[in-house]
Amino acid sequence: KLYNQVQDLKGSIRVYCRVRPSLSGQSNNLSCVEHIDDTTITVLTPTKTGKEGRKSFTFNKIFSPSVTQAEVFSDTQPLIRSVLDGYNVCIFAYGQTGSGKTYTMSGPTELTEEGLGVNYRALGDLFELSNQRKETISYEISVQMLEIYNEQVRDLLASDGLNKRLEIRNSSQNGINVPEAHLVRVSSTSDVINLMNLGQKNRTVFSTAMNDRSSRSHSCLTVHVQGKDLTSGNIIHGCMHLVDLAGSERVDKSEVMGDRLKEAQYINKSLSALGDVIAALASKGSHVPYRTSKLTQLLQDSLGGQAKPLMFVHIAPEYEASGETISTLKFAERVA
Ligand code: ADP
Ligand code: MG
Repeated sequence: KLYNQVQDLKGSIRVYCRVRPSLSGQSNNLSCVEHIDDTTITVLTPTKTGKEGRKSFTFNKIFSPSVTQAEVFSDTQPLIRSVLDGYNVCIFAYGQTGSGKTYTMSGPTELTEEGLGVNYRALGDLFELSNQRKETISYEISVQMLEIYNEQVRDLLASDGLNKRLEIRNSSQNGINVPEAHLVRVSSTSDVINLMNLGQKNRTVFSTAMNDRSSRSHSCLTVHVQGKDLTSGNIIHGCMHLVDLAGSERVDKSEVMGDRLKEAQYINKSLSALGDVIAALASKGSHVPYRTSKLTQLLQDSLGGQAKPLMFVHIAPEYEASGETISTLKFAERVA
């Protein structure tokens, strides 16, 4: 049983830090990352006097720039597989725009086999494992694709869905869910690729008026699993959210106005709500402020209790990014 394998992951959030390779192509490009080992990262912190400080952070795992998509996935595999045993799982990618969140979750723009991100590999793995168990358990796997933009939830799988705001419901039977969003049965990686492409296309159509909306909204691929034990007839449910969060960069209020400022405030609000919820869960506080944002409401079932959350924090190695890098690492340190 996989159950035993994942026991140690239960209850507290895992934090994995991934450092993107330098994109300039120049190997001598100054980097703000001074040192990386398996669990510790040391970054340079430029100060006002021009002198450099350094600060170290420790997480469950650090992925250096040379780590492949397959290696990143293999470290999350036991967690993902526990969905088939009825656990709720949540994997989210945090970091400033350009730090590699979409690369980790989906892959590069031009997808290749090796480039496939966690989303595709996770589903592929669930198909494979459910097939291996088919003599004893019959599984149905379905997905939804949602976007949260300015605290409004939209269906990325509906061609006109971005015009409609959806409600997050909490029912005793289904837990937290978004019943109005399309729920599509999938059974192969190509089904998933087609759906992701459709979701991406719908998102892009809506983006044209305000370019690159994708970095300013959260996107969530939700996987619903239902398994029927063929001997006992018992039904188990598991749910996994795979979330590509909006960019965490701070926006200078003196430089933006109107819509852009509003977006930034919504992002800030939901990311701090996420941090507050995880911190409250970690300190076993009696009040967990799930209702502060749509994001934390949506993820409620897969952050606390028996659920298994995992955060990938993404770091851009460029020296100019060090301010954002430090604030990203501080966010991660707080929830770790
Ligand atoms: P974000 O989603 O955080 O804004 P992206 O995932 O779009 O960032 O990454 C920014 C750029 O860096 C993209 O061109 C992406 O392909 C590239 N990139 C990110 N992470 C890696 C990586 N680990 N290896 C190679 N290229 C990467
Ligand atoms: Mg992105």
